[in-house]
Amino acid sequence: MKLRRSNLSRLRQQTFDVLIVGGGINGAVSAAALAGKGAKVALIDRGDFAGMTSMNSSNLAWGGIKYMETWDFALVRKLCLSRNHLMRSYPSTVQEIRFFTTLARGFRYRPLYLLMGAWLYWLIGNGFTRTPRFLAPSLIDREEPIVDTRNTTGGFEYSDAYLHDNDARFVFNFVRTALDRGCVAANYVESLGARREAGWWLTRARDVIDGGPEFELRARVLINAAGPLVDAHNVLTGETTEHRHALSKGIHLIVKRLVKDRRVLAFFADDGRLFFVIPMGNRTCIGTTDTPVNDADAGITDEDVAFVLENINKRLKLPQPLTRGDIIATRCGVRPLAVKSEPGKGRDFLHLSRKHAVEMRREHAHISIFGGKLTDCLNVGNEISDLVRSLGIALPYPDYKWYGEPPEAVREEFFHQAKLQGLDGYTAPESSEPLSMRLWRRYGAEAIGLLENIREDPRQAEVLIKGTEYLRCEVAQAARREMITKLEDFLRRRSKIALVERTSDIARSPGLAEACELLFGDQARAKLDEYFAAHA
Ligand SMILES: Cc1cc2nc3c(=O)[nH]c(=O)nc-3n(C[C@H](O)[C@H](O)[C@H](O)COP(=O)(O)OP(=O)(O)OC[C@H]3O[C@@H](n4cnc5c(N)ncnc54)[C@H](O)[C@@H]3O)c2cc1C
Repeated sequence: MKLRRSNLSRLRQQTFDVLIVGGGINGAVSAAALAGKGAKVALIDRGDFAGMTSMNSSNLAWGGIKYMETWDFALVRKLCLSRNHLMRSYPSTVQEIRFFTTLARGFRYRPLYLLMGAWLYWLIGNGFTRTPRFLAPSLIDREEPIVDTRNTTGGFEYSDAYLHDNDARFVFNFVRTALDRGCVAANYVESLGARREAGWWLTRARDVIDGGPEFELRARVLINAAGPLVDAHNVLTGETTEHRHALSKGIHLIVKRLVKDRRVLAFFADDGRLFFVIPMGNRTCIGTTDTPVNDADAGITDEDVAFVLENINKRLKLPQPLTRGDIIATRCGVRPLAVKSEPGKGRDFLHLSRKHAVEMRREHAHISIFGGKLTDCLNVGNEISDLVRSLGIALPYPDYKWYGEPPEAVREEFFHQAKLQGLDGYTAPESSEPLSMRLWRRYGAEAIGLLENIREDPRQAEVLIKGTEYLRCEVAQAARREMITKLEDFLRRRSKIALVERTSDIARSPGLAEACELLFGDQARAKLDEYFAAHA
């Protein structure tokens, strides 16, 4: 709360080289890249960082094997290289995972044909991952007995990567990196539109939490990274662009853990699209759908849920079919897809390109970011930095490497200290990995400070909210460094507690009140009430 308050007053008082509107993945990487290279950057989001599309993805960093069907090899090559780059840069966060793909009898392609495609995919990706293999029905039965093979001709297995923590955490870490390099960022600050005056962008903004009078932000360059709301924001600023967005809704359902091994089960759903069963800690995430919508805030419907349940029940051998009662949480997001002409014209809607497009109006010093994927985020950060530099903004450290996990020496020091201190002895019994690994992945170099907290007071290593693996010292650190403004920011985005625990279980957790006090001080009760009123 303190961090947000102080950044709000800096937003009001200072002038900036660049203002970024929107703190999803595109805005977050732009902020991290520009701040790292030495620009004076401001970042605002009308909700929480990653509070829109970027918290509702499938958590995959993938080369887009499905785009091979539309012969989009250039896109697949680009995404595969981006995936490899992410895996190399974030070895503890973006990790290889096997996709165990089963094909129904009568499917439009035979398994061997698709296996050849998987080999081509592997080659296009520079052979960076493990090689694909054929799956005969008997092998599927042996290795993944939960898959119903009665109607299958076999399948194939290949590799891509997934985000071990959730997407929103991944995005927030870029925001945090940007903050560490001097970016002034604040969540729950809405842009109401901007005008150009004497070489400056003057953006009207309002504090969504505390209200008060509107204020103006001054920046030389304006970057519109408003995701599904890019077009709406361009209308507010009077900018015209060649691209615009077509919107497509996708949902996921989270249920108890269905698959023992850490692998993704992949199927083709009844509409012919790839459909996944993805591990999420001690839960399983199932999806997704692809439905054209007009509304950027489209929500989940009964039909969406029925579609996912029907498709999964048809393809798995479960003791009891999954029902609505088994759903622990849902995710629903709207993909912003970059299009140049009328949506759907000439191409099937489902085959609209997933490429990002960056459009700059040089004479206005205005940049809009359309479409894109989490997978391609490092390219977006670099591309935006180059464009901003071309607008005459000085980047004193143009070659600064603004992304990636801390250097090996820092990692070794953390794990050495953790070992000496017996940190892994505190690992919760239900945890899928040692505590040291989890803390390193989530906080990088900041995890060393947590070791210090635990040395001073071993109670800091206690799990605060039962069943969530979240330690007392993590919550205290989140209160200081993670700009948690509403309880949902913590439960759903900085952590994934609200994805893996039912609201009723969270409400009963004895540690929740203490967590709220650490996060919000004397506003704890009000923040709790606000959360449960919104999730009743
Ligand atoms: C179901 C689904 C599955 C997906 N799976 C994957 C996947 O597995 N891998 C992958 O790489 N990609 C995936 N994607 C795509 C990826 O999630 C999106 O392309 C990406 O998150 C879009 O990021 P963004 O920053 O453009 O938009 P957003 O994340 O929506 O961010 C835009 C931000 O702008 C803010 N904003 C809007 N208007 C204003 C304003 N006036 N003032 C201030 N702030 C404003 C919003 O609050 C929002 O936080 C998936 C998408 C969906 C929907």
